[in-house]
Amino acid sequence: MIRANDPSLTSWLTVAADSDFPIQNLPFGVFKTKGKAPRVCTALGDQIVDLLALHQLEYFFDLDIDASVFDNAYINDFMALGKEKNRAVRDRLSDLLRADSHFDAKDKAGAFMLNMSDVELMLPVKVGDYTDFYSSIEHATNLGCLFRDPENALLPNWRHIPVGYHGRASSIVVSGTPIHRPKGQQMPADATSPVYGPCKLLDFELEVAFVVGQATKLGESVSTANAEDHIFGLVLFNDWSARDIQKWEYVPLGPFLGKSFASTISPWVVTLDALEHFRVESPKQEPAVLPYLVSEGKRNIDINLEVIIETEKGEAKTVSESNFKYMYWNMSQQLAHHTVNGCNLNVGDMCASGTISGKEVGSYGSMLEITWKGTKPVTMPDGSERKFIKDGDSVVMKGFCKKDGLRIGFGETRGKVLPAV
Ligand code: MN
Repeated sequence: MIRANDPSLTSWLTVAADSDFPIQNLPFGVFKTKGKAPRVCTALGDQIVDLLALHQLEYFFDLDIDASVFDNAYINDFMALGKEKNRAVRDRLSDLLRADSHFDAKDKAGAFMLNMSDVELMLPVKVGDYTDFYSSIEHATNLGCLFRDPENALLPNWRHIPVGYHGRASSIVVSGTPIHRPKGQQMPADATSPVYGPCKLLDFELEVAFVVGQATKLGESVSTANAEDHIFGLVLFNDWSARDIQKWEYVPLGPFLGKSFASTISPWVVTLDALEHFRVESPKQEPAVLPYLVSEGKRNIDINLEVIIETEKGEAKTVSESNFKYMYWNMSQQLAHHTVNGCNLNVGDMCASGTISGKEVGSYGSMLEITWKGTKPVTMPDGSERKFIKDGDSVVMKGFCKKDGLRIGFGETRGKVLPAV
């Protein structure tokens, strides 16, 4: 077992039972305070722990890591050190923060701990390339029913290929960044020529993304058995979608401007290591997949997911409760497929799951499905209706794992929609 994962550990810092960040989590992020450059950090309860400060206090004395890895606006250099070093740092953080620590970190906490509410959490990863998959069978089936034929909801390739497309990395933003309603071309249902204007059908997509921590060479393919060596950790991911722009543009080459205006991620990258305890079997795949896509062992992860719409006045409504474990195609299969043609991965690449829908109406991961193309609006606490997202609304996504009294959370992705400019 990974030492930092020991469920019996407690910290000398009091951590609330419902915190996303117990001592067994220790995710990685980047923070900024006034007058200081961004630096790498972890989270514990409602505090952040400054890893550059820990380095300066020589708590990493034996790990042979340059200070520049933590004196850094992104965690990419840290991820590039490799799993063994990443794990050594996470274990050391655990050793420093545990109640029965042999180090004197508790006495020096003032030098490296800050209230999370007093710092600005930054985009943690410099995202090189971003790929979005389409790996939830429930979501793909719902969309097939809505837009094509309920009898043949899944296209012929769907059960054979983890379908995906290359998205836009430049517009991936961290939680809290407001989003302007995008403008673009749309073809209204009753029109004969397209119109230009603000998107009317603004939607979210509930997704989880993995972050690539180890690069591959051009021409190299990664097997499903080795895929997780290249996955550093996971973030929550809101793949904002302009449905009217998407509908008009997506044939024949797939999503473009209907997706590329923004995606929001959570500020903490939860390591694959920290999620070890929450692995579950993947759903059975029928028909059998090609040999290069066969994956062994527990490759899905039981992550409870929630989507909340918050009005400008702060009234909130949960519109979806889903779970990452529903994914038909797991991350190892996605990564093996991504590299099977020799396409190389870079540190910081991000691969999102695709909208995560469950079987029940309450577990659908987009407004398109929740309101069934706007035919079944959601009623908000103030009595107003939502078919899609209105200006002034915030979309909040949360995620956590829970098992045997251990709770590992992701924090949240929050994005407020501002009017088109
Ligand atoms: Mn998507």
